Amino acid sequence: MIQTVTGPVLDLDFGKAAAHEHVLVDFHDPSEAPRAYDRADVATVMRPYLDTLRETGCRGFVDCTPIWLGRDPELLLELSQLTGLHMVTNTGWYQAPMLPPEADRLSEEEIAAVWIDEAINGIGSTGIKPGFIKIALNSGKLSDSARKILGAAILAAQTTSLVVVSHTVGSAAMLEAQAIMQARRFDLSQFIWAHADAGDGLDIQRQMAASGVWISLDGIGSRHDQQVIMLKDLIAAGLADRVLISQDSGWYHVGEPKGGKVRPYHTLFTEFWPCAVQSGIDENMLDQITTANVARAIRVRSRE
Ligand SMILES: [Zn+2]
Repeated sequence: MIQTVTGPVLDLDFGKAAAHEHVLVDFHDPSEAPRAYDRADVATVMRPYLDTLRETGCRGFVDCTPIWLGRDPELLLELSQLTGLHMVTNTGWYQAPMLPPEADRLSEEEIAAVWIDEAINGIGSTGIKPGFIKIALNSGKLSDSARKILGAAILAAQTTSLVVVSHTVGSAAMLEAQAIMQARRFDLSQFIWAHADAGDGLDIQRQMAASGVWISLDGIGSRHDQQVIMLKDLIAAGLADRVLISQDSGWYHVGEPKGGKVRPYHTLFTEFWPCAVQSGIDENMLDQITTANVARAIRVRSRE
């Protein structure tokens, strides 16, 4: 099953989905706490974008905004009820400097315990449970802080059976993360490489996919050509069952009037999809990637 903000949903009922999006993000001064905003205003601004996505036939929406960047499970619950979209939120933390103040002080095990508690008991007093673990790793050689966050994610994922969605830009960081996960016998199919399309090339994508890692081509929106090439390459290599496509779109920018400039969520289905079909990608394949693959990637693994 998939853990949505309204409760568990069966894999088969999750439907066509956008695997990496954001309703709201607050890139605030990292030395201060996230800012206040008017939740009703956010819902009013964002609902039409979500309605338009729903009208394309999309049913699932995976929200990748972590705590300290504006994660708001109650906002997602309200929008899920208003739009009929299955929405999924997360536990986990982002990267320095956008980390809660206790990040430095806590050990890997203590951080994992915070996330495990949310997975089991829900987020704060909301009763809403996270459906995956969101982390971010710095590019290049991993910092001590990033290694600790990754270690916490491995521990929390092994305990909760949730998948890890990791913002990871570039092959150096991804290779180092892979080596750490392998050394700790972590199941690589429980790791989604977010922003795999922002890195450096097809070889590393193929190599990671072959090792079990999910390849998230989530930069679709501003341009399509690159992602079509990457998708065709992974399909040709027989790795279509390791791929996710999405837009990293939205979002309501906290601190800007009416949320500032919002990028729409429907482009994946209204623009990328026909463009991919025209370039020779089978429509059934796109259907499988946006439906079965998303469900397989983010479903809560059954525990032995
Ligand atoms: Zn994102």
